[in-house]
Amino acid sequence: MKLAVIGTGYVGLVVGACLAENGNEVVCVDNDSKKIRGLKRGKIPIYEPGLNELVDRNQEEQRLRFSTSLNRSVKNAQVIFIAVGTPEGEDGSADLKYVTAVARGLARAMNGYKVVVIKSTVPVGTAARLREVIRRETTYPFSVVSNPEFLKQGAAIDDFMRPDRVVVGAEDPRAVELMQTLYAPFTRTGAPIQLMDCASAELCKYASNAMLATRVSFMNEIANVCELFGADVDKVRHAMASDRRIGPSFLFPGIGYGGSCFPKDVKALIKFSRDEGYRYRILESVESVNASQKLRLVEKMQKHFNSLNGKTIGIWGLSFKPRTDDMREAPAVVIIDALLRKGARVQAYDPEAEATARRIFGHKINYAPHSYDAVKGVDALAVLTEWNEFREPDFARMRSLMRHPVIFDGRNVFDVEHIRSEGFTYYSIGR
Ligand code: NAD
Repeated sequence: MKLAVIGTGYVGLVVGACLAENGNEVVCVDNDSKKIRGLKRGKIPIYEPGLNELVDRNQEEQRLRFSTSLNRSVKNAQVIFIAVGTPEGEDGSADLKYVTAVARGLARAMNGYKVVVIKSTVPVGTAARLREVIRRETTYPFSVVSNPEFLKQGAAIDDFMRPDRVVVGAEDPRAVELMQTLYAPFTRTGAPIQLMDCASAELCKYASNAMLATRVSFMNEIANVCELFGADVDKVRHAMASDRRIGPSFLFPGIGYGGSCFPKDVKALIKFSRDEGYRYRILESVESVNASQKLRLVEKMQKHFNSLNGKTIGIWGLSFKPRTDDMREAPAVVIIDALLRKGARVQAYDPEAEATARRIFGHKINYAPHSYDAVKGVDALAVLTEWNEFREPDFARMRSLMRHPVIFDGRNVFDVEHIRSEGFTYYSIGR
């Protein structure tokens, strides 16, 4: 099939490359000409495991192309995916200006029947609204499909290639058939294509992310209560996870959720519910618990040191989660800001997110080329992202490098007994 993916970011690029891998002819479009120039030369703008090879291979075999021309790309495609950003607006709602602009542009470029697939996460009712936007600009027939994306950064390719399910909101049989054909190779292993109306499909994505965010905030509060009573959140978590009604996923306490999705999707669901007169009280709490949890580690540091002024803090991990360079809404941003405000110096290491961090903090912090360089001469180390390489460090080497052997572990990567036996003063979450 001939496809166009508009918006070549974390989602668009992965979706485009995966669809090309299954034999489709895909053009990925972006209005960021620098990004497209780089991609044409094989320069991948983000870190996502396996993406480099996938893009290279499909570009070489001429199934995957890159373009800044919406017009030409739409004319050549049967199915057009919209995968542009839907960032948080000032009032918490999802800002649809990019989605609407693309819909208008693609409508003007139409030269026959097209299926327009909304991949971006958009509030309930957007498919219906885009249908109107497009109808005003074209006389050609078209269908609008809601096809929310559930991939996780850090495991995006595997998630797209082997989805748990594919949600398709479509009202038009012709579009349903095209979507079923397109997704058939990805659902051979039994993952269902779940067909529904557009409003339900749009809500699926928010409901799933809101549920996961709720589990995170719920467990963070359990961890905080564990600390009050000297209970061990790991033991509590294991017992909860053994209950099949609960299951083991997303029960890890830490320093709050971040990323480009959970925070903005939770806020958007609160906002579009409120716009219809419904107050989503659970999610309001999920949000505020998350905001305070991001500062939990700083509070522990403050208590330990009394004053953070003049202290040097080493940081391991900047990205909002491992295996990505993305720092959108990362706890590290809030924590580093707080440390700097309190007069601390920060020297940070992240295996992939240094370039992103430099765009956020510039020269305000120091960047270490290696994890051990980040702990040289520090008063304490804070672990903010659970990259695998942090799990089994050389503790003796760390002890010899640090001014004081103190660790604030925001992701519970170390074993409490073991790290204390290695001579560290150790703080973690809920243990
Ligand atoms: P992103 O910011 O990485 O990428 C968006 C891209 O769209 C950018 O490259 C931008 O230049 C481009 N763009 C903006 N306006 C454009 C226009 N008019 N024409 C062409 N290109 C344009 O965003 P993302 O993380 O890929 O997210 C995209 C959407 O997918 C969002 O709605 C997000 O909520 C949703 N989503 C994201 C994830 C994730 O893990 N990142 C997962 C599922 C769903």
